[in-house]
Amino acid sequence: MALTADLTLLDGGRKLPLVEDFYTIQGEGYHSGKPAYFIRLGGCDVGCSWCDAKYTWNPKLYPPTDVETVVARAASCAAQAIVITGGEPLIYPLGELTARLRERGLEIFLETSGSHPFSGVFDWVCLSPKRRQPPLDEAFGRADELKVIVESEEDFAWAELNAARVGKRCMLYLQPEWSVAERMMPAIVEYAKAHPRWNISIQTHKYMHIP
Ligand code: SF4
Repeated sequence: MALTADLTLLDGGRKLPLVEDFYTIQGEGYHSGKPAYFIRLGGCDVGCSWCDAKYTWNPKLYPPTDVETVVARAASCAAQAIVITGGEPLIYPLGELTARLRERGLEIFLETSGSHPFSGVFDWVCLSPKRRQPPLDEAFGRADELKVIVESEEDFAWAELNAARVGKRCMLYLQPEWSVAERMMPAIVEYAKAHPRWNISIQTHKYMHIP
C-alpha cells in the first residue's frame, strides 16, 4: 500500500490530503493547555506499532482539499494558534499552507517525526523522533521541542541520542506511550528527576476527553 499521496494531484501544495480539522486544546508538550486549531494531514510511512492515528496512514482515503478552504475555516474561529499534524505532514510541500496561515496572523506549530525534508515556515517545531524511521539531519536544528515517546526503559537511551543532536534551547520532553502510561510513569518520573533537562509530557487531552 502506498502511504504517500500522488504529489502531482496536490498542485504544489495548494491542495493537501486532509483527514480532519478542528478547534480544540493542545494536550501535550510545550504548548499543552493552549487552545489551537488542528489541521491533520493523511499519509505516514513510519509505521509505529503503537500509533494512535493509524487511520491517517493511507492518504488515498483523504481526497486533496484546497488549502484556502481549510485556512478560511481556521481563521473563522477564535483560534490564535494552528497545529499542523498527521500522519506525517512533511511528506507534503507545506509552503503554501503556512504562507496562507501566516497572512491571517496565525501562529503555526508543527508536529513531525522529522523523517521527511522540511518545507513551510513555523513558529514552533515539535520533533518526535521514531526509531523505525529516524529524523533527517536537518530536523534536529529545526526543533524547538523534542518529544520522545517512551514505551520501555530502552527508550531513555534513544531519547538521549536524539537530545544530543538538538540545539541548546530545545525543550526536552519524555511522554509515555498511552497504552503503557500507567506502568511506565514511575520510571519516567525517576528518570526526569535524575536528568532534570527532561520534562514530562502527558496526553492531557485524553483525560479531558477531547480530540
Ligand atoms: S510517525 Fe506518528 S503518525 Fe506516523 S506511525 Fe508514528 S505515531 Fe503514527
